[in-house]
Amino acid sequence: MSYSAIIVAAGRGLRAGGDLPKQYQDLAGKPLIRYSVEAFAEDQNCAQIIVVITPGDAQRMTSALGPFAKLCTLVEGGEVRSASVKAGIIVAESDNVLIHDAARPFVDQTLFSRLTLALENFDGAAPTLPVVDALSRMDNGYQPVSREGLFRVQTPQAFRTSVLKAAFAKAGDTLNFPDEMSLAQAHGLSLTTVEGDDNAFKITHPSDFTRALQILGYNVENKKEVVVAGQGYDVHRLTQGKGVTLCGVWIDCPYRLVGHSDADAGLHALTDAILGACARGDIGQHFPPTDERWKGADSAAFLIHAVELAREAGVRLTHADITLICERPKIGPHREAMQARVAELTGLCLDHVNIKATTTEKLGFTGRQEGLAAQAIVSAIKS
Ligand code: MG
Repeated sequence: MSYSAIIVAAGRGLRAGGDLPKQYQDLAGKPLIRYSVEAFAEDQNCAQIIVVITPGDAQRMTSALGPFAKLCTLVEGGEVRSASVKAGIIVAESDNVLIHDAARPFVDQTLFSRLTLALENFDGAAPTLPVVDALSRMDNGYQPVSREGLFRVQTPQAFRTSVLKAAFAKAGDTLNFPDEMSLAQAHGLSLTTVEGDDNAFKITHPSDFTRALQILGYNVENKKEVVVAGQGYDVHRLTQGKGVTLCGVWIDCPYRLVGHSDADAGLHALTDAILGACARGDIGQHFPPTDERWKGADSAAFLIHAVELAREAGVRLTHADITLICERPKIGPHREAMQARVAELTGLCLDHVNIKATTTEKLGFTGRQEGLAAQAIVSAIKS
């Protein structure tokens, strides 16, 4: 059953610590918002991802979403949560919507499926978990409260789009609801609950980031992380031809790069830098030029392989910087496309990928335009 996802990321909350609203804060190398966007992007039933942002935040959100930005529709939210959801639901195109808090990074398809299944018989559904701790009021001494019949309510909360839209229309400007289930209840929708997920907890306080890192497999009690770096260098000869591929981007020009693969010196230098960071030798060892399989190959495959080797070695890339050294082609017009392609292939955010170019003042082989050189450096954290 297909649905539109609405991710509410319009909060300014700083309770989680740090200088940034928590949806932009870093969790193991990625902004928090990316986790839930990626979870929805991986679900084939998700037909649309709407991200509700603080007014004026479009550029910051686009940068935080990195390669996922193109999958998302950004909508500016309102002063309160319900106003933000209302802004999101206006552009929802599917018959069903899943409304989610950006601050709950660990959600997955099994939870989404439980919710959409519930919509076959109900107008709305939310994931819930039992309360296990004892409860008490403390305003006039210790006054125990029965936990019988009490549940913790999570997100995403799922609804049939048309009935929730109608409920919002009826609510008019009365938008002081803590969540969509409350608004739906107030307007007579039929509601149910499904089993929640302990991992779908909401990041609220600084300690929740520690819990999140533990879920991601980081040894936060006994941190043995070290910063590592790798560098790469590559050269390919230029000759007459019909174009070159550099940093994964095709450039139409009257020459080509000579090599066994597509001779993308930018991606080769970066691949070597990543292999350097995880101490796994060089590109020639993994992809020998004598191997027929790599004849004319798209060098993206080499880079993806190196990124996978790094992941297996516990090396998490944090930043990549590439310098292209050539008189031609001119890199400036292609710089942004190269940056986006490298971000996509490495999984890094755009603001952690840099492409720059220089000439050698007509000196040497690059100056005589006999060839082109590339250098790359990456930093990473090994745990
Ligand atoms: Mg090469």
